[in-house]
Amino acid sequence: MNNYIALFLLSSSMFAFAYEGDSGGIFALPVSKEYKSDKYLLFEIDGRNYVIAGMPYVLEEKVLEIDNKKIKVSPVNYGESRITINNDSLVNPSLSDQERASTERKLLQSVLSKKSNFYLNDLKFLRPVEGAITSGFGKKRFINDLPRAPHLALDLDGFDGDPIVAPLDAKVVLVGNFFYSGNIIVLDHGSNVFTSYSHMNKSHKVVGDFVKKGDLIGEIGSTGRVTGPHLHWVIYMNGNRINPEIVLKKDFPANLLADYQGVPADLPQSEE
Ligand SMILES: [Zn+2]
Repeated sequence: MNNYIALFLLSSSMFAFAYEGDSGGIFALPVSKEYKSDKYLLFEIDGRNYVIAGMPYVLEEKVLEIDNKKIKVSPVNYGESRITINNDSLVNPSLSDQERASTERKLLQSVLSKKSNFYLNDLKFLRPVEGAITSGFGKKRFINDLPRAPHLALDLDGFDGDPIVAPLDAKVVLVGNFFYSGNIIVLDHGSNVFTSYSHMNKSHKVVGDFVKKGDLIGEIGSTGRVTGPHLHWVIYMNGNRINPEIVLKKDFPANLLADYQGVPADLPQSEE
């Protein structure tokens, strides 16, 4: 028994990580002033440089490597949500609707994969609509009791026509009408941070427009696959969809640094 415990302690310490992140979370990793990246948002807080990285949504532990440092990403239990949709053509789309949705997915992917040619230097996000949260991020979804992709977005309540504002300065990179998302607008905030707004009644912007934080970009609606009017809000950081509730916290992003209080910026990396 004692040998077993000793072996367990030895093996767990061998695999200890200095950095641990959450599925769908945001992680602030200290990096040197010289570190450069096209993929990640670099941000200076209190004179120190950090990569502010969106963590992938994972169902099992996963190890990421950024700037030769390893981050262990652990699953989070975000709960589940069950909804009923009676319009069968939305639940079991026809072949032509499936093809349409696939084309739209590719279009979205191509927009999100284009490198921003400007940098994000403001992380104080505004809430895009005032309404309450009706469905949180990461929930396992069941539509008419059948398992579907998890909800990697935040749903905010509202009435048809309620204003949706830009949470940060941005360039409008996509405005469309999609099978699932309905009327959608995608904003590029720079530094590989994008946000999207689905199910809108209408968009107030066109592709190529520059918008300021707080500008009206569209109106809440119930277009696409929905059960009623609301905003489906997605934040993409370095290609990962993260929990938007994180950026709405008052002390974001300073709260990400709690683990580093009194610790030098160049943390020693664990042996592995
Ligand atoms: Zn949603």
